[in-house]
Amino acid sequence: MQERERLQKELEKARAELEQLNELLKHKADYGIGEGDPAIYDWELNLALRQRAERKVKSIEEALQKLGAGTYGVCERCHKQIDPERLKILPHTTLCIECARAEQQ
Ligand SMILES: [Zn+2]
Repeated sequence: MQERERLQKELEKARAELEQLNELLKHKADYGIGEGDPAIYDWELNLALRQRAERKVKSIEEALQKLGAGTYGVCERCHKQIDPERLKILPHTTLCIECARAEQQ
């Protein structure tokens, strides 16, 4: 179960990242930031990063569920098998390279 291990490691990493960002965002009130303060920019950046981290955690969890259901590594769009090399780099991806490119356009 190489994929499961890889996904679980990814999940741990993503959750740690999310926790770290939550920690950073918790302290907003302490800054007492005003308009135009560069700290606002930092806070908003962290907020955007947290949203991304949340999505990542979710997609890895979904990938793990798929692994259990036997549908892991199948493209959600065209239902073809996703290239294993792609899954090594992006273990939680739900699209094959062709569909990912098509979605980005
Ligand atoms: Zn596809």
